[in-house]
Amino acid sequence: MSHTIEHTFATPIEVEPGILRLTLSLPSGPMHVHCYLLRGEDGWTLVDTGLGLMETPWEDILAQVDGPVVRIFITHMHPDHVGGAEAAARATGAPVIQGRLDYAQCERVWGSADWPERIADWFVRNGVPPERAKEMIESGHVFADFVRFVRNPTLVDAGDEIDGWRVLATPGHADGHLCLHRGDVLIAGDSILTPITPAVGLYPQSRPDPLGDYIESLHAIAALEPRVSYGGHGATVDEPGARALAIVAHHDERLDRTEAALDGQPRGGYEVSHALFGRELAPIQRRFAVAETLSHLERLVVLGRAARVEDDLTVTYTAP
Ligand SMILES: [Zn+2]
Repeated sequence: MSHTIEHTFATPIEVEPGILRLTLSLPSGPMHVHCYLLRGEDGWTLVDTGLGLMETPWEDILAQVDGPVVRIFITHMHPDHVGGAEAAARATGAPVIQGRLDYAQCERVWGSADWPERIADWFVRNGVPPERAKEMIESGHVFADFVRFVRNPTLVDAGDEIDGWRVLATPGHADGHLCLHRGDVLIAGDSILTPITPAVGLYPQSRPDPLGDYIESLHAIAALEPRVSYGGHGATVDEPGARALAIVAHHDERLDRTEAALDGQPRGGYEVSHALFGRELAPIQRRFAVAETLSHLERLVVLGRAARVEDDLTVTYTAP
């Protein structure tokens, strides 16, 4: 089944009473990101901010909303969600709220000059040829220009409440990923999406088993049984529990394929990514493919279905 989704950009659209969806354009990937406006007693809570492109017409957007935006909540530190935080904060005068772990990672990745070098070394350690690692990092770091996060935001943790919404930790797509849950509605960020499946990658200094974290998050979402879930990309999810379990099944299948790519011969994440995602990928897609492959390999290690072999220079994997 093909899903064609028509978007109206930079115009808040009511998806149900008290919840507006605000879609902003992206120059690549899914080509759009959804932010949300949640009505409260004292004004609106804006969830996510798009990229930090000067083009986002915040003044026009705010003129279409009745009442002030009184707080800005960030689901996770990826460029399309946190990048526009500074511009949105300036336009609204509202404080930014971000998860404690998420903000630490946001500063580490977007706020430090040596990150591209560190991540390139790490990809080389996982079998990426050095010149390819350089291309992958350069193509990934173009986003750094579009990330304008806000320093020293108000930090929140799972279980906190924001204007009647409960903060839910849903690690996986990002270690510090948070959702908002109230009644039977989930504001999901990139925790569950449809028709696309959120990327779950392993990165340096990330939690050790992001796919394991993610599968737990999906089961937690299924157990909440929300009526509806509004995500950062694609369509509204009408049966979030079923969608969460379908994504678990997708990863189970990919785990099987990853396991099948291993034998007694040590293989790096880069090599295994060719078996899973093919040989022909642009550098930016290869970057996601290697990170995604590594999250599956590490999950298999935890499950006893693969073994990791490490020395000073390389990390490889074999059948156990
Ligand atoms: Zn996103």
